[in-house]
Amino acid sequence: MLFWVTTLAWLAGCAGGPPIDRSHHAAGQDSRVRFIVLHYTSENNENSLRILTRDRVSAHYLITDEPVRIYSLVDENRRAWHAGQSQWFGYRDLNATSIGIELVNPGPLDGTRTRWAPYSKAQIGALSALLRDVQSRHHVNAWNIVAHSDIAPLRKTDPGPAFPWRELARQGLGRWYDENAVTQRIPQVTAVELGSPAYIQSLLARIGYPIAQSGVWDAQTRQVISAFQMHYRPANYTGQTDSETVAIAQDLARHFPASTP
Ligand SMILES: [Zn+2]
Repeated sequence: MLFWVTTLAWLAGCAGGPPIDRSHHAAGQDSRVRFIVLHYTSENNENSLRILTRDRVSAHYLITDEPVRIYSLVDENRRAWHAGQSQWFGYRDLNATSIGIELVNPGPLDGTRTRWAPYSKAQIGALSALLRDVQSRHHVNAWNIVAHSDIAPLRKTDPGPAFPWRELARQGLGRWYDENAVTQRIPQVTAVELGSPAYIQSLLARIGYPIAQSGVWDAQTRQVISAFQMHYRPANYTGQTDSETVAIAQDLARHFPASTP
């Protein structure tokens, strides 16, 4: 009984009681934001803004094209609904822990997904400045600046192979591999490494990708390899493994300890 009386009194106190003293700040705190997820809208400026403000999908930022404009649609402290079912380095459902940035871009220009709309210089310039700002305020690691297709490879292809990951990484935004090391590594990739689905599956899991360790060449493995290629080797993203794909994954994996089964 006393418990309820005390609780009620406390609740009453919150409603109309003493003011909250905000003059002290705890040293032990950090940002809830761990990831930045990039998307294309597959819509024009007008439709993108309408869908992202009125429907049940949203993003923290929308960057339009011609003219380039940055819209803030959701406060960074709140969740935007952009990632859906997703996973990266074992973290699931990234809406809770990410900032979502949508870029106006039509995506694939044909049904076979061989031709993709380029991103304009001005739009990428705006994105670069925004990324730098968000990344530095929330201390987001380079490997946690990701494509929607990285964290949901079985469902998504955005921002697609036309997105300039390499160019942004050269500006210190996002993860990239050591290109000289990969050139040297390519001829050393062994037939066993190339032929083993378990090997590429474990490599891709080590560098963040959600991939089932099935040990066989199944559809999900091809889709995750394709998502990886769109990001790191966009000239060819068929989802078939090859020496360059393995060498890039090996180089990136050097920075992450082998996962224990
Ligand atoms: Zn998306």
